[in-house]
Amino acid sequence: MSWFESMVERAVAELASSHLLREPKVVEGVRGPFATIDGREVLSFCSNDYLGLSRDSRISKAASKAAAGWGWGAGSSRLMAGTTALHRAVEREIADFLGAGSALLFASGSAANAGLLTATTDEETLVLSDELNHASVIDACRLSRAIVRVYPHGDAEAAEKMLASERAARKLIFTDTVFSMDGDLAPLPALRVAANRHGAELIVDDAHGFGVLGDTGRGGVELAGVAVAARSANLAKAAGSIGGFVAGSRDLVRLLESRARSFIYTTAAPAAVAAAGMEALRLVRVADDARRRVVALGGRLARGVRALGYPVRESPAPFLPVVLGTEEKALVAAAKLWESGFLVPAIRPPTVPKGTSRLRISVTALHAENHVDALLESLAKI
Ligand SMILES: *Cc1c(COP(=O)(O)O)cnc(C)c1O
Repeated sequence: MSWFESMVERAVAELASSHLLREPKVVEGVRGPFATIDGREVLSFCSNDYLGLSRDSRISKAASKAAAGWGWGAGSSRLMAGTTALHRAVEREIADFLGAGSALLFASGSAANAGLLTATTDEETLVLSDELNHASVIDACRLSRAIVRVYPHGDAEAAEKMLASERAARKLIFTDTVFSMDGDLAPLPALRVAANRHGAELIVDDAHGFGVLGDTGRGGVELAGVAVAARSANLAKAAGSIGGFVAGSRDLVRLLESRARSFIYTTAAPAAVAAAGMEALRLVRVADDARRRVVALGGRLARGVRALGYPVRESPAPFLPVVLGTEEKALVAAAKLWESGFLVPAIRPPTVPKGTSRLRISVTALHAENHVDALLESLAKI
């Protein structure tokens, strides 16, 4: 056996024996909040499709119509010939919705983070990153040449101390607005104040806030009411489509177009994806009812989980963690829920810190109150 084959074999065996092997479930069909897996229809609580838009036929129709006119594949990267009028239109639409000068689409939110951070920082930039930031923010930090320091989760005071003590020509705080495995909010107002005191900038990843939080769905930034130098997010969660973006000044977008490698060296998303994004944004703008519904369902879930004795932080996010501890405990709990007809993912390291393996439960506007109540009843028995 070559070293390569034996290394792979050993790594897989180690992952399996420590309950860390991951395997995608294959979804055979969907119906509302239900998914059919292994021939069985279960109620799914693991979607980020908070407003239920991913199933909205108006989005898929917009995509089909554009695909019929433009073809499917973009055929080249954005800077070659992959930027269509539809790409520009959806970018204008994002900027308009967020009140930003401009916006730039990326293939994904992960690519947007990588492009944003690598194009705007250098060896003389200090980047402060929350310890529970999304993996793609962590990767963006690693990919940048910046001086990266990680501050304790949600601790604006600690971040401010680092801003005061670390020497760098330029300083930046980069945080998720809503933490993807904890559902809590970053202390944006306190971080803004800390940044201002030290001449630092604040940029945020609003992937879980965009479309669902704030009075009008403009996200975690709207909810906190703070100014940010730039934000990344995507159209793949509450907006029910696909693709990431950065919103900021016109010059920021011009810089990213010339310098963000994750924008430049990759094939453009199809025009149909841009068309789907346009329709998704239109629906996000008028989704007040769905937003109210999903926030109410999230509240119902949180109250129920608290009543079972699990600590759950106050948050308007439509998902929450049920922290159980070991990998095995989380897997056993997920398996029991599966047996009762619920799809709830077990989240294990390295997605979350060791010893904090958990269930991550999310609700969408497609759920009904009795769906949440039924899940809570089964959760009580795990
Ligand atoms: C999902 C997510 C991303 C990645 O977005 P994709 O479009 O799925 O690549 C980035 N940041 C956060 C906080 C996320 O939750």
